[in-house]
Amino acid sequence: MRKQGCKNIIFSSSATVYGDPAEIPITESCPKGQCTNPYGWTKSMLEQVLMDIQKADPEWNVVLLRYFNPVGAHPSGRIGENPNGIPNNLMPYITQVAVGKRKELGVFGNDYPTPDGTGVRDYIHVVDLAGAHVCALQAISRRCGIGIYNIGTGHGYSVLDMVKAFVRVNGVDVPYSIKPRRAGDIATCYCNPAKAKAELGWEAKYGIDDMVRDSWNWQRQNPEGYGENGTQASCLRNR
Ligand code: UDP
Repeated sequence: MRKQGCKNIIFSSSATVYGDPAEIPITESCPKGQCTNPYGWTKSMLEQVLMDIQKADPEWNVVLLRYFNPVGAHPSGRIGENPNGIPNNLMPYITQVAVGKRKELGVFGNDYPTPDGTGVRDYIHVVDLAGAHVCALQAISRRCGIGIYNIGTGHGYSVLDMVKAFVRVNGVDVPYSIKPRRAGDIATCYCNPAKAKAELGWEAKYGIDDMVRDSWNWQRQNPEGYGENGTQASCLRNR
């Protein structure tokens, strides 16, 4: 970046830097925590490096976007989430069960201190997430220095809320069974996104029904994802 004279960066960070959050809803002034997994530490450490660079050279503009739980797909159904192997994340697992690729969803724990016992997260539509980056670019052009923003809707949904919304909106079945808790998971994580609205002029426009609809729209049109026979895959590979 130095060679090219570039001193602006938008970093894709994560809500996971808050660890087991000290307060809910999480604001940006909530202290960063002990991350509960190695992925979280990579985000936390890189945030620190970028903040230090900006401190050493105030000409830098650094925007840290702390993503909550991105889900959904482009409404066209042409761009979606295609994890390698067995999905780790909830939504691609749900869509792969719905399309018949996997037998049932394992719900990791139903004994959390949440309304239905399953983990609560702040799911955000990927198109809203993309919009947050456009707003961050505009902030950089106004020379923002350091900006740290939570990118979520501010609403918490449980695992079972997501499954039920998916079934209701899409009219497909998603069999599930309750499994033990997954190591490193926390009970509840959702944000207060007011700072992003006040300073970036950004707020989420899509709700949970849009998220489950667009996730399914992509999966149903791409049952094998971007697999060997997928035309979209060859398109992407040829870029
Ligand atoms: N989850 C689940 N089954 C799965 C994947 C995830 O029950 O196959 C739960 C997980 O325990 C958490 C929520 O879904 O409560 C969101 O998990 P995900 O991995 O999508 O995101 P995280 O918040 O862990 O980054």
